[in-house]
Amino acid sequence: MIQVSDSIADRFLSFIKPEQNIVVAYGYQHHGRCLEKVLCMMGLQFEIVDDYHTDCKRLEDLDSKKEYTVVLCASDEKVRARMCEKAIKLGFSNIIDNKSLLVFLEETNRYNGYESAVRTNISKNACPICESDAYEIYVNIRKLRVKKCTDCEHEFIDEVSKEVVTGFYDDIRYFEKNYNISIDDFFNESFMEFCKTRMSMVSPFLTNDIKDKKGGAFLEIGCLDGRFLWYLKEQGFDVVGCEINKSVAQVGIENLGVDIRCMAIEECNFEDESFDIIFSSHVLEHLVDPLSIVKISREKLKHGGKFIANLPCNETDYENPHHLHFFSNKSILKAMESVFDEISIHHEKFPYLVNGEIFYTITVCGKKN
Ligand SMILES: [Zn+2]
Repeated sequence: MIQVSDSIADRFLSFIKPEQNIVVAYGYQHHGRCLEKVLCMMGLQFEIVDDYHTDCKRLEDLDSKKEYTVVLCASDEKVRARMCEKAIKLGFSNIIDNKSLLVFLEETNRYNGYESAVRTNISKNACPICESDAYEIYVNIRKLRVKKCTDCEHEFIDEVSKEVVTGFYDDIRYFEKNYNISIDDFFNESFMEFCKTRMSMVSPFLTNDIKDKKGGAFLEIGCLDGRFLWYLKEQGFDVVGCEINKSVAQVGIENLGVDIRCMAIEECNFEDESFDIIFSSHVLEHLVDPLSIVKISREKLKHGGKFIANLPCNETDYENPHHLHFFSNKSILKAMESVFDEISIHHEKFPYLVNGEIFYTITVCGKKN
């Protein structure tokens, strides 16, 4: 049972108007779940609307807005301010956005979260990267165990089945929610920005050979709607992508004319030694078995070909429901070195924002001689 101090509960309750319905809009589902617990404990009825990603569109749908107390819940002040502005504009008059709410969340987080979890040394199944069996174990907010290899410092969750993981990506809104851009905004500024960012991940590893030929055979694993592939095609590359989110891929196939296989790479039956470059961005950490995909990529590369992966490194966002692997500098190098002949790293860091906190990705490249 979570204990919330009475003084904070009283302060919070003083903001609630008993005749109103409570609706909660939150910036990140982890916070929403914590708040849910707190409100339940206080015996309050409420409705949750996850509205940060949809820009409070679901708040728009509520009739007679005067009947609601809106609780805004996000750790990032800028996000809260934006949501607040929108709620005022929509005509809600009782909006709670105060620091005491975050104290609630802190208390519940400490109780449930990673910080307070008991660490034990166990040795059962091996590290998915270096096969060491020495690791520590934690419990994270999702009630899943995060294991940390004490040899290569790789952290991982190995209790989620492939079927469950595939289920994460069958939603057409996945792209919009996680990249904060619309899937039908083709050729505008954010579209080109997306393509250029991906190009800057790839270009440090392109050899003159590939540049001179103006292209090469290029495969992107997890290509979403194929917008980066469209960009490369314009520059003379022969491109193909694979993407398990069928609805997002379909939008790209229809609108961008890009060859996208709506399946995982291991099901694609590409011929061995057929690509000059295989690229993935923000993919490896989502996979049940990332090392197997690195190995398959090697098989599909021509001699002299390169596998380029951009991914979060030293990330501590253990509540991200889609991340099953948290690579360390050591573990991503180990994974690449165990498969490829020459490894290089591009140190320019690409920042990305989670829950108001900045994390960074790195780009690694493995060459098949
Ligand atoms: Zn390891």
